[in-house]
Amino acid sequence: MSGNNVRLQAIKDVEAYVPPAPILMEEQPGEIFGENVFSIQVMQRRLPKSVFKSVLATIEHSEPLDPLVADAVASAMKDWALEKGATHYAHVFYPLTGLTAEKHDSFLDPVGDGSAFASFSGKTLVQGEPDASSFPNGGLRQTFEARGYTGWDVMSPAYVLENPNGNTLCIPTIFISMTGEALDHKTPVLRSQQAMSTQAKRVLSLFGHENPENVVAYCGAEQEYFLIDSHFFLARPDLLNAGRTLFGAKPPKGQEFDDHYFGAIPSRVLGFMMDTERELFKLGSPAKTRHNEVAPGQFEIAPMFERANEAADHQQLLMTTFKSVAKKHGMECLFHEKPFDGVNGSGKHVNFSLGNGTQGNLLLPGDTPHDNAQFLVFCGAVIRAVHKYGGLLRVSVASASNDHRLGANEAPPAIISIFLGDQLADVFDQIAKGGATRSKEKGTLTIGVDTLPDLTKDPGDRNRTSPFAFTGNRFEFRAPGSLQTVAGPMVMLNTIMAEALDFCATNLEAAVAAGTDFNEAVQSLLSEIVAEHGAVIFNGNGYSDEWPIEAEQRGLKNLRTTIDALPELISPEAIELFSKYAVFNDREMHSRYEVGCEQYILTVTVEANLTLEIGTTTVLPAAIRYQTELAANVAALKAAGVEADLSTLTAVSGPIADLRAGLAALAGAVAHEHDEDPLLAAKSLRDNVLPAMAAVRTAADALEGIVADDLWPLPTYQEMLYIL
Ligand code: ADP
Ligand code: MG
Repeated sequence: MSGNNVRLQAIKDVEAYVPPAPILMEEQPGEIFGENVFSIQVMQRRLPKSVFKSVLATIEHSEPLDPLVADAVASAMKDWALEKGATHYAHVFYPLTGLTAEKHDSFLDPVGDGSAFASFSGKTLVQGEPDASSFPNGGLRQTFEARGYTGWDVMSPAYVLENPNGNTLCIPTIFISMTGEALDHKTPVLRSQQAMSTQAKRVLSLFGHENPENVVAYCGAEQEYFLIDSHFFLARPDLLNAGRTLFGAKPPKGQEFDDHYFGAIPSRVLGFMMDTERELFKLGSPAKTRHNEVAPGQFEIAPMFERANEAADHQQLLMTTFKSVAKKHGMECLFHEKPFDGVNGSGKHVNFSLGNGTQGNLLLPGDTPHDNAQFLVFCGAVIRAVHKYGGLLRVSVASASNDHRLGANEAPPAIISIFLGDQLADVFDQIAKGGATRSKEKGTLTIGVDTLPDLTKDPGDRNRTSPFAFTGNRFEFRAPGSLQTVAGPMVMLNTIMAEALDFCATNLEAAVAAGTDFNEAVQSLLSEIVAEHGAVIFNGNGYSDEWPIEAEQRGLKNLRTTIDALPELISPEAIELFSKYAVFNDREMHSRYEVGCEQYILTVTVEANLTLEIGTTTVLPAAIRYQTELAANVAALKAAGVEADLSTLTAVSGPIADLRAGLAALAGAVAHEHDEDPLLAAKSLRDNVLPAMAAVRTAADALEGIVADDLWPLPTYQEMLYIL
């Protein structure tokens, strides 16, 4: 009786679906790598020598872009893009929604005689003007005009995005208001990058590197995601509109893969993976895919690390590409942090290091004492930064959707601590125990260095429960959610590192000026850092019940939800920090805070309305139909003089009453007028609406286990997760 049952129809459609045959790579990955990117190599080939030199100076040494050069670049870029079949160009920017926005324009300009010619000037390359009022700006719009500008980020290469309906030249840009305030995620990445580099170079100079090259932050983001069949996705209004299931009983424990479908999994997903890999290669995004065994239907991809701003752009591009390629394969790619309640969620681990072409990775423990000392100062700066500004790292990953994942014993807790690994923890232990008083030998440094050469070996056991772990040559920030841009965490990391490196440089410079031996100065700096900030180092189990108690004793913040974390953005310390390093002014910080509140309110309100709608129009009718069938059965039995067993009818009637009551309570909670203060409004949603949604869900999920299968309208967890 599949009749109008959307779910049963979806199952039939899935069974009948024939996925496209896996594409065969006709070429070596190396051949197509970067094929659609206007890369440095392409520029070198196509630009006059002097122009190329000038652009390169901007890319590599952050020198301002010469406007005359822009015209020459635009012209070469246009010719290249037209050869690649592009008809349009787009300034691509990253508004505070966390999504990617594009403003498309045609290359073709009509001319007097009715024909058209392809034009693209330096000015159009360098600057665009989308309407700023259509994007969240957290109050920056009220006092300023709606005008907003996009500006080319010369450091992130332009590329051609292929589409069956025509190719587009995409230019990664920043997005700022008319008064220069950042309305996007890219601008602060670039600003914070500069701030961090300035301070890092001071430290490098102290270690004897003359005129060091700019230091950049590197970011490698491991992306987790789910794939489900499109037919199921389309039959779930909650997934479609909110990105996560608002209903759905957990799959039976110990669920084995259904043999019937097992065979289909590898080929279909593999086809998707090969296809995405190929697309990403063409766009110069170095991807490597692989399965993730944690949850059924869940996978992971880890592209090679890149400079933070490029990595952030590529990360956004990766998500867009995954979404569109999945559709091509009859699937939907889910990036929500917790699409399925009770099933492992998805994160986006941000691997982070600092370095440049000359000094290499500054978080790589060297094997000479001198290198070690430099490494230890950078590492000490990380310890200071994360301890002093843990709240800012926390707020950089705060969102209504990530709240469902953080602290849920599958992702790191909301308490920000650092895992150093046994060896490094031991080194800092020694420093704390008076390494500073040890004498130097022959001009080299002894900071308990005996153990240091070992550091390049296996860093020891991985600690999966730490939000911020040293993994041998980088730190891995594990709290970011799968849906989030890596720009947020990178801005925080750069800025708090700028402060910490500034502190280190100032301290060391003063000591040297006072005639203190440099090695001794390093020793005392490090022991001061450990004494003051060592509380953030935690090598134990972050999932344990004892940790929050101990963390509190250590004075570490435990900002459980987004509502607890958002005020961090406007704390006096944060505002001082960001303005000192010219990353955000006071107004920009307030704007980010307000957008954070708005986004939370928007997300939860949409979910609440969907819960009401699906509960009222889909779940309740199915349950009532079943109840009616049972009642008819009881009546028929009675009429026939047979004693009727009422237990099934009672079993379904209980949750139906609960569902009705739950829906009424939720409707009341949603109708409650919002507080004017955005944080209070968001808080009330957290405290009143989310629990009301949970009550509706509990009743509905109970019904899922009772109502006859042929009447149940929503694809189940089992179906969505195991049938691919
Ligand atoms: P694991 O599963 O051990 O965490 P993966 O290979 O899945 O490791 O992912 C590691 C990620 O870290 C990749 O994106 C990789 O490019 C990145 N990475 C490696 N070295 C660095 C580094 N020095 N700085 C930043 N990211 C790095
Ligand atoms: Mg990892």
